[in-house]
Amino acid sequence: MGKLIVFEGTDGSGKSTQFALLTKRLQAIGKEFRTMVFPQYSEPSSALIRMYLGGEFGSRPSDVNAYAASTFYAVDRYAAYQKVWGSYYKEGGIMLSDRYTTSNAVHQGSKVSEEERGAFFRWLYDFEYGKMELPQPDLVIYLDVPTELTGQLMRKREAATNTNADIHERHMDYLRLCRSTGLEAAEFYGWNIIRCAKDGKMRSIEDIHNEIFALVQSCLEE
Ligand code: ADP
Repeated sequence: MGKLIVFEGTDGSGKSTQFALLTKRLQAIGKEFRTMVFPQYSEPSSALIRMYLGGEFGSRPSDVNAYAASTFYAVDRYAAYQKVWGSYYKEGGIMLSDRYTTSNAVHQGSKVSEEERGAFFRWLYDFEYGKMELPQPDLVIYLDVPTELTGQLMRKREAATNTNADIHERHMDYLRLCRSTGLEAAEFYGWNIIRCAKDGKMRSIEDIHNEIFALVQSCLEE
């Protein structure tokens, strides 16, 4: 088996930015690897996700329960594993993924009560890794950003890319909840937490990148 390295964080936490920077750095040192991004919006396997995020099942995230919504994302990963990256990974390839099963823990885990959360986390990993037999990540890099700063970053991205926030991103209370659920999931599963803000401000992109690169290097050396 190869290595699977996953970037996770709430929406607008800087995942895509850090992901792009890491790929550049790995290319510069001559490492061979492949990348993937979930959800695969342009693939038919994401049909249910697109319906859900577009509000076809209701305009609030809570209109679709955590277990149902998790299955939409899980089948998209299953299709990608079967069709795109499974054989490369099984032959020892290095995969970098922007989001993975971990996103269900953060976003869908936020919909269940605190009492139910541990049971949900156990169900989720058993479902995707146990029953569906998707590979477990070797390293999860979790980007933690205070919600007030995330809101500012998302507006910046909307302006830069001319896009609108989806039903998850429009609800600040939901984002706040996702941040705390994300930290809870990180503790529960043993992810590596990167604290992206310091003294109420974002750390520089380069500074965060260097912390991430050190983690990736030690994972690849194992
Ligand atoms: P995500 O992929 O997690 O949704 P992005 O990587 O798209 O987040 O980042 C959201 C926005 O914030 C982008 O406009 C990006 O340029 C900006 N950004 C990312 N990291 C930082 C940082 N450390 N400091 C300031 N702005 C940042």
